[in-house]
Amino acid sequence: MVFPVIGRLAPSPTGAQHVGNARTYLIAWLSARSSGGMLKLRIEDIDSPRVKPGAAVAAREDLQWLGLDWDGEPIVQTTRLSHYQAALEELKRRELVYPCTCTRSDIATAASAPHAGEEIPYPGTCASRRVADVQTLQAEGRPWAWRFRVHESPTFVDRFAGEQHIDLKQIGGDFVVWKKFTAPAHAQPDAAAELGTPAYQLAVVVDDAEMGVTEVVRGDDLLPSTPRQLLLYRALNLAPPEFAHVPLVVGPDGRRLAKRHGDTRLAALRAAGVKPEALLGLLAWSCGWLDQPEPICARELLPLFRLESIPRRPFVLTPELLRTIGYCI
Ligand code: GLU
Ligand code: ZN
Repeated sequence: MVFPVIGRLAPSPTGAQHVGNARTYLIAWLSARSSGGMLKLRIEDIDSPRVKPGAAVAAREDLQWLGLDWDGEPIVQTTRLSHYQAALEELKRRELVYPCTCTRSDIATAASAPHAGEEIPYPGTCASRRVADVQTLQAEGRPWAWRFRVHESPTFVDRFAGEQHIDLKQIGGDFVVWKKFTAPAHAQPDAAAELGTPAYQLAVVVDDAEMGVTEVVRGDDLLPSTPRQLLLYRALNLAPPEFAHVPLVVGPDGRRLAKRHGDTRLAALRAAGVKPEALLGLLAWSCGWLDQPEPICARELLPLFRLESIPRRPFVLTPELLRTIGYCI
């Protein structure tokens, strides 16, 4: 029996979608649609302090403008907290997580080496705690996060990036699945789980599994997340999807596309009168599907799509390239 492909688009409404997001969405859309598969839309809005009002609606408009459609109603993470809570309870029940009271600066101080990136390896300060210790923490009014115990680093074969051996101990160790919160002193310990926020790693696994997602196509900045997610799939007894992590779009300085490179928001291109076909042509050329950047619509790209022809290095977006599609930065 052949199982249908189910892909997904998962914008975070923490800001506007830009040309870099568009390239990844195009690849994800073509990968699913070119094999006759379905595609779901998920709004990843649990990162509440960073969520911008209107950004979720804008992301949908951007996708529609590009001609990238999806099946069914969008799935909105903030409406699904009970699902993430159920998964957390399962991890707690099996002592696969423990309460961590460390602050960022505790972790930075305890970590042996200074760390340039955002991710500071967690030194395991709280790893000897048990789930039941939250009763004491709560009585003391101390906030905690739930950390997942990392005992191994699953290797996996990425459909684009090939075999991956990422040592989770090196890049962060035990990771947070539920962010820190303070339970009110009067709350029952069990009810305390209703407060706070699931972390991206947990939410994405619960969602992809429940949505029946069979392939995840996303930017390669998320490669280090995949072994963590594979551990959660195993822990929750869920079947993982296949993964394809594709290179990002960078500016002429080689750094990930951002405000410093000028306004590459899709909304800005649209407002300047750029046609979606022109942008799609540029992106398709950057992926090796066209010899020249020439206008083309998403559906016309279906027969041309090949994951293997995408260059392995990031796509450098220059002001000159944007000018060829009628956009001056
Ligand atoms: N929401 C994430 C982003 O916009 C994508 C997460 C994922 O694809 O797993 O970068
Ligand atoms: Zn800790």
